[in-house]
Amino acid sequence: MISDSKNIKTALTNIFSGVITIPRFYYNMFTRDEMLAIELHEVGHYQRRKRFLLELVIVELVVITASFLLPRQLPALIALFPLLAMLMLALQALMHRNEYLADEYSASYLGQAIISVLKQLGNKYGFDNPTDSHPSIRNRIANLSKRNA
Ligand SMILES: [Zn+2]
Repeated sequence: MISDSKNIKTALTNIFSGVITIPRFYYNMFTRDEMLAIELHEVGHYQRRKRFLLELVIVELVVITASFLLPRQLPALIALFPLLAMLMLALQALMHRNEYLADEYSASYLGQAIISVLKQLGNKYGFDNPTDSHPSIRNRIANLSKRNA
């Protein structure tokens, strides 16, 4: 599926339907090999969707279980804060790992093309701004370079 939405800056995969959405401007920005590398990254997400969902459920179960082990005499809000912080960090680590693995999946088929894509995205959006779901572009390139070394 191709999107004209200005809000969509990156390709997305619906892990339930397998539908991959690609921003229209990508077709003017990337070569054919780079587009293939992007699609392979998204296929990588789809391929490991069950494992990823299982990891998310396990992390949430661990944190929920931990919340029952907290001493009952602590005021609820004070006890909950570090637990929520832990949950956020663990979920972020899982999502970042999921991106590294999708990059590696793409690189396993097309080698350098995904690095070329990341460099162009870095030039457009910056190399050093990680989000909750995505590591920084600099770290993603470093991860792939380590793999090829
Ligand atoms: Zn991704």
